[in-house]
Amino acid sequence: MRVADVLKGKGSEIKSITPTATIRELAERLRVADVGAMIVTTGNGEIAGIVTERDIVRAFATHGSALESMPVSDVMTRRVVTCSPDDSISQIARTMTERRFRHLPVRDGERLVGIVSIGDVLKRRIDEVQLEANVLRDYAIAHR
Ligand code: AMP
Repeated sequence: MRVADVLKGKGSEIKSITPTATIRELAERLRVADVGAMIVTTGNGEIAGIVTERDIVRAFATHGSALESMPVSDVMTRRVVTCSPDDSISQIARTMTERRFRHLPVRDGERLVGIVSIGDVLKRRIDEVQLEANVLRDYAIAHR
């Protein structure tokens, strides 16, 4: 199973926000979109970073209530790690585990074509394991 297969199921919509939006606006956008991360893009569509719920929590510990009017650019991660549609699910699961993050934007050449979360990865792995178990059970029954 590849990243492209995951995107076929969930679509390639990318939730994004500008670096100048406030953390309050970010929190509201995350709530409405029901996601845990957004890609930060500039006016000309370039990727400036990624920002997740965890960045908000960490920054809250430092800045307290002053955080809500701070810009997204103050808390986002600038160096974004991406994956390719051709990557396997087990490859990106390893990347997420080793790098300790739960979101991977998908890049096809210069273009962003989606974002995959640890939840998407787990769902596919569970489906794969279930399928393997069914095949083995059928095999065992057929050869009894
Ligand atoms: P997460 O576990 O995805 O909420 O993210 C944990 C931390 O890693 C946060 O500081 C994020 O900004 C950062 N992060 C999340 N995804 C990525 C990514 N694909 N590339 C670089 N940093 C990331």
